[in-house]
Amino acid sequence: MLWLTAAMLLGCFGCVKTPQRFERTWYDVFDTVTVLTGYADSAEEFDAVAERAHQKLLEYHYLFDIYHDAPGGANLKTVNDCAGEAVSVDPRITELLVFCREADAATHHRVDVTLGAVLRLWHDAREAALADPDHAAVPDAAALREAKRHTGFALLEIDEAAHTVRLTDPLARLDVGAIAKGYAGERVAQGLPDGYLLNLGHNVVANGAKPGGAAWTVGIQNPRSSGLLCTIPVTDQAVVTSGDYQRTFTVNGKDYHHIIDPDTLAPAEGFASVTVRCASSAAADMLSTALFLLPQAEGERLLGQYSAEALWVAPDGTVTKSDGWDA
Ligand code: AMP
Ligand code: MG
Repeated sequence: MLWLTAAMLLGCFGCVKTPQRFERTWYDVFDTVTVLTGYADSAEEFDAVAERAHQKLLEYHYLFDIYHDAPGGANLKTVNDCAGEAVSVDPRITELLVFCREADAATHHRVDVTLGAVLRLWHDAREAALADPDHAAVPDAAALREAKRHTGFALLEIDEAAHTVRLTDPLARLDVGAIAKGYAGERVAQGLPDGYLLNLGHNVVANGAKPGGAAWTVGIQNPRSSGLLCTIPVTDQAVVTSGDYQRTFTVNGKDYHHIIDPDTLAPAEGFASVTVRCASSAAADMLSTALFLLPQAEGERLLGQYSAEALWVAPDGTVTKSDGWDA
């Protein structure tokens, strides 16, 4: 009898599998390198989860793209191309834009996705500079001021019931680069099991902890070297960094980055990077851009509204943290 019980127990333990770590990398979404890491009992189980995640990421990528047409219908490029007219869109677009409108109000217009007409001039200057560095130039100041006249949420009609969007000014444009990646990462991560980590460039979303309860380790880039500034333990949270070392170009020896101050219409100079940790990846993405653009005290007040924490790196390398960062 004893022998039988021991055999049954052994047999039972024999069935218990230790989840293994798997990883998948994609280069075709959100203009960045995307890595999904997860623990699963088999490669087949992980592959099925990864396949679903990739499909969803592609859907959001196409919907939120402002530079390319989407294969299956209208996207944000369509809204921009058809400025002046109402465009029928997927509800995921109206939901994103409602979130962006709230972000505009919460940040007192520092993070404003209707700045597209201005941001496009900086985007085009960067593309031209990277293609032909000898003729690199910053956008013309008068052109930037003229573009600014075609910005503001007063120019965007969002009909959530009819799922239509209309830029009322034919020269207005949307650019959701400050928010879309974190927003999509959050929606996609909601469909993942616990024990998965989705890394979309500088946007990381951790679903739960690792098997056994250990936290994930997330590295924060040193803005002034190719190494890490530090690593932090993360469980069930998003970590997003905005930095002056991302998407840069050089004119006459001076580097220009991609986060534009809506008042000066030039790259913001307050910080080298800002990292935000928060339960919501959409909020973390929005906040990292906002805090990059705001004086630190105002940024700290904004963090409180989202139960978020931040780490600021000043241009001289000085690191400061919000009160609850280390907790
Ligand atoms: P992030 O890397 O999340 O901080 O977002 C930077 C991106 O947001 C840029 O590449 C632009 O597409 C866009 N962006 C830059 N400045 C602003 C701004 N003041 N408000 C809204 N979007 C912006
Ligand atoms: Mg952002």
